[in-house]
This record gives sequence, structure tokens and C-alpha cells, in this order.
Amino acid sequence: MDFGTDYTHTIAGRAVKSVTWLGIINPATEEQFAQAPDASKEQLDAAVSAARAAFPGWSSTPYEQRQALVYRIGDMLLEHQEQFARLLTKEQGKPLESARMEVGRAAHWCKEIAGFSLPETVLDSDPERTVLIRHVPLGVVGAIVPWNFPMTLALWKVAPGLLAGNTMVLKPSPFTPLTALKLGELLCDLLPPGVLNVVSGGDAVGPWMSEHEGIDKIAFTGSTATGRRVMESASRRLKRITLELGGNDPAIVLPDADIDEVAPQLFWACFANSSQYCLATKRLYIHESIYDRLASAIVEYGKSVKVGDGTDESVQLGPVQNRLQYERIMELLADCKAQGMRFLLGGDSPAGPGYFLNPTIVDNPPDDTRIVNEEPFGPIVPFLKYRTLDEVVQRANAGEYGLGGSVWGSDAAVARSVADRLQCGMIWINEIHKLTPHAPLAGHKQSGLGSENSLEGLLSYTNTQTLSVKR
Ligand code: NAD
Repeated sequence: MDFGTDYTHTIAGRAVKSVTWLGIINPATEEQFAQAPDASKEQLDAAVSAARAAFPGWSSTPYEQRQALVYRIGDMLLEHQEQFARLLTKEQGKPLESARMEVGRAAHWCKEIAGFSLPETVLDSDPERTVLIRHVPLGVVGAIVPWNFPMTLALWKVAPGLLAGNTMVLKPSPFTPLTALKLGELLCDLLPPGVLNVVSGGDAVGPWMSEHEGIDKIAFTGSTATGRRVMESASRRLKRITLELGGNDPAIVLPDADIDEVAPQLFWACFANSSQYCLATKRLYIHESIYDRLASAIVEYGKSVKVGDGTDESVQLGPVQNRLQYERIMELLADCKAQGMRFLLGGDSPAGPGYFLNPTIVDNPPDDTRIVNEEPFGPIVPFLKYRTLDEVVQRANAGEYGLGGSVWGSDAAVARSVADRLQCGMIWINEIHKLTPHAPLAGHKQSGLGSENSLEGLLSYTNTQTLSVKR
């Protein structure tokens, strides 16, 4: 049983259509398979008004009741896991198993975040007064989501935003709006009208939201360039913002790494979700003493990985999500070819339709090239040789991004000393992409502002308030 073919906004607890529509393309077939409503400015205004109207009731709903409802969002996702996964594969392209995992992860986040408490501190050292420090909701939160993980990145905002007592307007990417629209529809049965509004639309809707006088905070995940625009327009009303932005994550492999053990892990570090992953390894630094052996072990593993339409259960890597991004990747590939770079793997696309590029590894390109300095956000990754630890740390930290990084090696003390010198928000040693709702994801440098997840993330959906009472 799939979800059917009707997609509507959810505004004030009601299904709302639009006069214009966005055609939604399956990236594996390049065929339009659905239409999503394209919100007008008036419809966004209606969603913001509905959220404002619902705020007094929702923010005064007992915290335990909001916890129970956020937990039940997790249950609802699991009840519909297969339907969501199939829709996600169609609109995003990722293999079904990865889509199931994404829905599962979104549910897990809801259930874990529902368990968080908002701290209240009483200062009673003063004989004259009691001082209470607490955290109160902000009002209306606008959540803006990209197309690489449409479900997890939506729920990472919806769960803490609602738990803290805010009402929300969720806007998915115009490339992948369908799962969020279904989420809005299904949550009408669970949440009071107006508490969570979902609107989809074209390029105008995001800027309308970040400028909107009725929105108090923007929780944004997307590219650094767009994040800067959000910050600029949010500044006019001193809107609160959380920005989770781009990355160009390094992985550093030390000379004593166990090649057979790390090779498959490093392949997936680079290519999971067809490298459309903010925290994907986008530069793999390998010590010169093991470069050839490790690179060939990764290449051998990569040859066994099946690329194709994600609805085929045996497929492990899907297409690039949209034509625009695919053209960007192909342009980067052409740039590598024009500069005479060598490919250890890939460099070509499978026959047939779809925005596919086989996983592509570029052999030790110079540091001052686009493939090393830009975030491709698609399955093309440079492997880079290094000689000394000082040199590799300096190269890993170069550039404007500071999202994540990883270090791989057998000597725990050396690995730790390298990790301690990385300038980024999320560091792994001898593993990667282990995320938990309890740990903050907080980009450094141009990779973000503020944190998502953890108590720190929850607190970013609140204002701090001091209440002083004379005894
Ligand atoms: P994008 O910045 O193009 O779009 C993200 C969202 O912002 C979309 O919903 C889009 O419609 C909306 N938008 C576009 N212009 C806007 C504007 N002026 N104001 C407000 N909203 C606007 O990003 P994308 O191409 O969808 O996603 C890829 C990028 O996201 C990559 O750079 C990736 O690294 C980053 N990303 C970061 C994280 C993280 O947690 N740090 C996670 C996933 C993706």
C-alpha cells in the first residue's frame, strides 16, 4: 500500500491545494511521477497565521503532554515506515534499505528527543529573593530542509521545535517535498490544528520565510551560500537562527591503519547516499607508505557495489538527486578530466536514464584544484597522499568549512592527537557517521551556526528567562 498520488499543504490542520504545481521527478528514471502544490505568498501567510494562532494553546500544553505527542510522532513514522521509505526512494533516489533506515532514524530521534527535559535552575543563595532560570518557547519556528535527507532533517527540527512549545511551518526542498507533505497530512490526526503546518513551493518560499515578520526563528539546513542569505534576511527582525551548512570533510588515514578493515568503511564514508551527505568524507588523506595498497583495496571493494534504481532491493547506491546537481557534478568531472587527472575508479555513468555517476575516485590531485576545495555533493572524491602529520593536519584544516572529520589508525594515542588538532564540529576516530540525538551537530567556521540535536539543540528553540521573586 503506498500513499496515493494526492499531495496538499497542511495549513491550520486542513489539506490545502494550490493553483500552481511543482512536477516531482524520480531521479532514477527522469520521469515526473507526482505533483506537489506550489505555495503562494498568501498561503505561506496563512500557515504563519495558523501557527501564531495555535501558539498560546500549544505553549501552555503541559510539557509531559508535548513529550508524549512527540514520542507518538515516532510511532506514527514506524507505523508507516514502508510507505514513507518507498515514497522517499521515488523522490530522493536513495536505495530502499537506506530509505527505511532514514525513516527509522527519524522515528528514533523523535522518541529520544521526547525524553529530554528543559532545565530549570533555582538560585536561592540570596536571602532576599528566589531567582528562577528557565527556558520558554520562542513562538513560531520556520524549518527549511534540503533534499539529501528530507525526512531525518525535517524531524530533527520538528521534534525539538514542538517539544519546546513552539508552533511551526515546515518547508521541504522543492526537489523532495512529498514525504514532508504526507507527514503534515498524517500529523493532523495527532496534533492540534496549526501546531505543525507544512507548505511546499518553489524558490520564493524560503526567502519569504526568512523575511517573514510572523516567524521568530529559522532552523535551516542547506548550503553555506543559502545559509548566508538566510542570516542576512533574518537579521532584520533579529530572528533566531540555527544554520547547518555545507562541509568538505577530511578523513586522515595514518600509516598503521589496518587496510583490510578500514577499506570498506572508508568507501562508505565517501560514497554513502551517493556522497550527498553533509558529513561525507570529501577529501581522503592517505599516508604515502600505504596509499597504493589502501587505494586499491577501496577500489576493489567499490567495484562490488551496485549502482542503480533504488527500488531494486539489490542496489546499494542511487542517482544524484536532481538535474541541477547532476550537471554540477558532471562539470566538476569535466574539470578533472581537462586537467589530466587520473581516475582510480568510475569517471563514467551506467547506461540508461537517470542522474547517475558511478562512484568516482580521483588519484592524488593537486591541493589547489576545485575537486579538493569545493564541496561536490555527489559521488566524486579525491584521494590525497601525505607525508607528515603536521602537513596533513594543516591541509585538512585548510578551507572555509569545518563540519566533520575522521582519523583512522591503530595507535590510539597518535590518532587522538591528530583528532585533537582538527578544526570541525564532529570528529570520529576509527569509525564514521555514528550520530546520536544526544550529541550536538555543530558546524565550525562556514559550516554552520548553533547546534542541532542534544540538549544544546533543544535549548536553541527557547529563550532563556530569569524570574526573580522577592521573599
Ligand atoms: P540549498 O541551500 O540549495 O537549499 C536548502 C533549502 O533552502 C531548500 O529547502 C531551499 O528551497 C531553501 N532555500 C533556497 N534559497 C533560500 C533562501 N534564499 N532563503 C531561505 N531558504 C532558501 O541546499 P541543498 O542543495 O538543498 O542541499 C545541499 C546542501 O546542504 C549541501 O551544501 C550540504 O552540505 C548541506 N547540508 C548540510 C547539513 C548539515 O547538517 N550541516 C545536512 C545536510 C545538507
